Amino acid sequence: MPKQLFIKTFGCQMNELDTEKIAGTLSDLGYSLTDSPDKADMVILNTCSVREKAEYKCYSDLGRLRELKKENPDLIIGVGGCVAQQEGERIVEKAPYVDMVFGTDNISDIPKLLGTSRGKPRNKVSTGRRRAKYAGNVSGEVNIPIKRSNPVKAWVNIIDGCDKFCTFCVVPHTRGRERSRQPDDICREIRGLAAAGYKEVTLLGQNVDSYGKDLGGNAGLAGLLSMINYIPGIERIRFVTSHPADFSDRLIDAMTELPKVCEHLHLPLQSGSEEILERMKRNYTYKEYKDKIKRVREAIPDISITTDIITGFPGETDGDFNMTMDALMEIQYDGVFAFKYSKRPYTPARLYDRLVPSAVSKDRLDRVFELQNCITLLKNQACVGREFDILIEGNSKKDRGKLTGRTRTNKIVHITKRDGISTGDMLKVRITSATRASLTGEVG
Ligand code: SF4
Repeated sequence: MPKQLFIKTFGCQMNELDTEKIAGTLSDLGYSLTDSPDKADMVILNTCSVREKAEYKCYSDLGRLRELKKENPDLIIGVGGCVAQQEGERIVEKAPYVDMVFGTDNISDIPKLLGTSRGKPRNKVSTGRRRAKYAGNVSGEVNIPIKRSNPVKAWVNIIDGCDKFCTFCVVPHTRGRERSRQPDDICREIRGLAAAGYKEVTLLGQNVDSYGKDLGGNAGLAGLLSMINYIPGIERIRFVTSHPADFSDRLIDAMTELPKVCEHLHLPLQSGSEEILERMKRNYTYKEYKDKIKRVREAIPDISITTDIITGFPGETDGDFNMTMDALMEIQYDGVFAFKYSKRPYTPARLYDRLVPSAVSKDRLDRVFELQNCITLLKNQACVGREFDILIEGNSKKDRGKLTGRTRTNKIVHITKRDGISTGDMLKVRITSATRASLTGEVG
């Protein structure tokens, strides 16, 4: 009987991809995935430290796993991801029942860590972070086996780390400086995905618009997109996350000209106030941001645009916040990911004064959601009666009688199951109804 592995993933798509790498690595060691920690021989928390809440949740989950380990002393507990990278051995000090800790660049070290963790006293567990320094393996991720969670769409990492050092963000401290993968290596991976039946790839990085700056030459993300566009079998290409300061006209041209590049852009604004953007060290003004949105909408009128917003950044006055609300009204995003500001270690903003009380940040966050929910609903309702190309991604999570797919603009669409339609099919679907979260349609 294969050993059972449960992985809980926090945070962004980069972490989702890391989870697939952890699952692939452990699959080679005889583990298969289970959906319940109670049935597991090994539980891994793949952590995120972008927000304090995610870090807090990691420690509260560890508390629950401690109880599980009392019932099953053979249970192996691992902690990976950004909190592991940031905290290192402090995790073992706080939770001595943890068997292994590995940073974001140390997934390939898991077999070694497992080899050492079983025979050692629990307070002497090796940490991936220490090994990373020892091995200096910042690009050791490339050939890690990946157990993909979806059979038709795949994440492909193109750049690790970030050089931007926004004043609120811990990522450059956990994932390090920018390191682009070689284009040949990325294309080889994508050709392999196409041969295995994958139809869609999403290129991932903390700042994909910076892709290639460290490789010399000037092909950048636009050049990489053109290469991938010619790979037979791949029908859709997405990329995330873009940075407004680096998002270029050249990239807009590539999105316009390359037929496989989808009409969706995630461009984090964070705040509509020039002063707050300056304090965040985002390196663009709201006016510059708006001009880029205007240009991309002129070039690709049907594009859907999503963003990230932070409420309650230190110094954010009612007036600053109202500028963010004005920006939401003005830009009319298709969707917004919004969060309350939380103080992160190593970041300059942790030392800023003029803190915004948590209740005020929460109230502002609620107001962002309230407004954006209306805008998103109206945008989705405008799709009713129109026909879209949908890539079927699998069964609906909520309704066994339905299949779920996405438009090129990244909107979720449910259709009723019927013979002859299966995962991986590309269909023309007419939208019949819409909610804020998704669309429902009929095959045309
Ligand atoms: S661009 Fe800013 S927010 Fe994004 S990962 Fe880099 S430092 Fe963090």
